[in-house]
Amino acid sequence: MTNSSIVVNQASQRLVDRFGRRVSYVRLSVTDRCDFRCVYCMTEKMTFLPREQVLSLEEIGRIASVFKDLGVEKIRLTGGEPLVRRDVMALVDYIGTLGLKDFTMTTNGSQLPRFAKGLKAAGLHRLNVSLDSLDADKFKRITRTGDIEKVIAGIDAAKAAGFKKIKLNAVIMRGRNDDEVVSLVNFARQRQLDISFIEEMPLGEVSDHGRDETFCSSDEVKALIESAYPLTPISHETGGPSRYYRMSDSHSRIGFISPHSHNFCGDCNRVRVTAEGRLLLCLGNEHSVDLRAVLRQYPNSNQPLREAIIAAMDLKPEKHHFTTDGDVQIVRFMNMTGG
Ligand code: SAM
Ligand code: SF4
Repeated sequence: MTNSSIVVNQASQRLVDRFGRRVSYVRLSVTDRCDFRCVYCMTEKMTFLPREQVLSLEEIGRIASVFKDLGVEKIRLTGGEPLVRRDVMALVDYIGTLGLKDFTMTTNGSQLPRFAKGLKAAGLHRLNVSLDSLDADKFKRITRTGDIEKVIAGIDAAKAAGFKKIKLNAVIMRGRNDDEVVSLVNFARQRQLDISFIEEMPLGEVSDHGRDETFCSSDEVKALIESAYPLTPISHETGGPSRYYRMSDSHSRIGFISPHSHNFCGDCNRVRVTAEGRLLLCLGNEHSVDLRAVLRQYPNSNQPLREAIIAAMDLKPEKHHFTTDGDVQIVRFMNMTGG
C-alpha cells in the first residue's frame, strides 16, 4: 500500500480493493459465545475466548463509526449469538444513531421475545433468524440445546414489534433436515417472511458429522421447493453469494446462499470483523488485520484505525476456494468468523 493510494481513498471516502470492488457492507461479530451448539457451526464442547481478548462494546462502536465514515452503508451484527452479549443493547442503540442505510442483525431468535421491541426502537431495520427445523426433536438435535418454541415465539415477537423485513436462514443437511425444506417454505409463507437456504460451509472441524456426507446443494434444495412451488428468479442484488426467487402466489422471497455451487466472489462487497477484532477480508481465506491492536494502542484517536482499514483493502483476496469433499479448509468456526 502506498501513501498516495491512502490519500486517494481517503479523499473519496470509499473502500475499494485491488479488484475494483467497493466494500460497503460490514459484518461485526459481537461475541463468539452462544446459547446453542449447532452441529454445523460448533463442536459439542467449545472453548470460548477469554473476555479480555474480546472487543469491548465501545471498541466495536468505534469500528462501526469509522466504517460508516469510510462510506459503508450496511452493518450487520452477528456472532456467536449477538443477543447473549451482556449490554449488547448499548451497542445497538449507538449504531442506530449512525444513520446507516441498512442496519441488521443475524440471531438464532432465542432471546427475541425479550429484545425484539428494544431492537426496533433502537433503529435496527431488519432481522435474519436462523431456523433449520420445525420439529422440536430435530431442532434440538441440530442445535443441541435449542428450544423451537422459544425461537417461534421470538419470530412472532419480532413481527409484533413491527419488523417488516424478517428473513429466515436454514442450513440444509442431507439426512438431517432435507425432508423439511417445503415445510420451512410453508412456515415462511404463512408468516410472510423471506427465507434463505444456505449450503453448509467447511468452517472449523465439527464433531457431529463429515461435511461431505451431509452436503446438500442449493440446486437440490431448489428442486425440492419447485415440486411444490414453481420459482421465478428476481433481481435482488446483495453483492453476496445469494440468488433470489419468488413464488406466484406469495410475497415471501426465497434465497439460496451457495458458496460452493455458485461463486459470486466477483461482486463481493463485504468484510467481517471477528469478536476479537480481526478484520477478515474474505469468509473463505485467512487474510486479516488485527484491528484490536490498533484500537488499544490508540484509545483516543480513530485516525490510525481508519488508516489500517483503508490499507487492509489491498489484502482482500479475489475469491474463496471452498470444496465439498469434507476437508476442513478454514480452521476457524463460523461462530468465530461472524456468519
Ligand atoms: N447465532 C446467530 C444465528 O445462528 O443466526 C448468528 C451467528 S451464525 C454463525 C450466522 C449464520 O451462519 C446462521 O444462519 C448459521 O446457520 C450459519 N452457519 C453457521 N455455521 C455454518 C456453516 N458451517 N455453513 C453454513 N452456514 C453456517
Ligand atoms: Fe450459535 Fe448461530 Fe452457531 Fe447456531 S449457528 S451455534 S445459533 S452461532
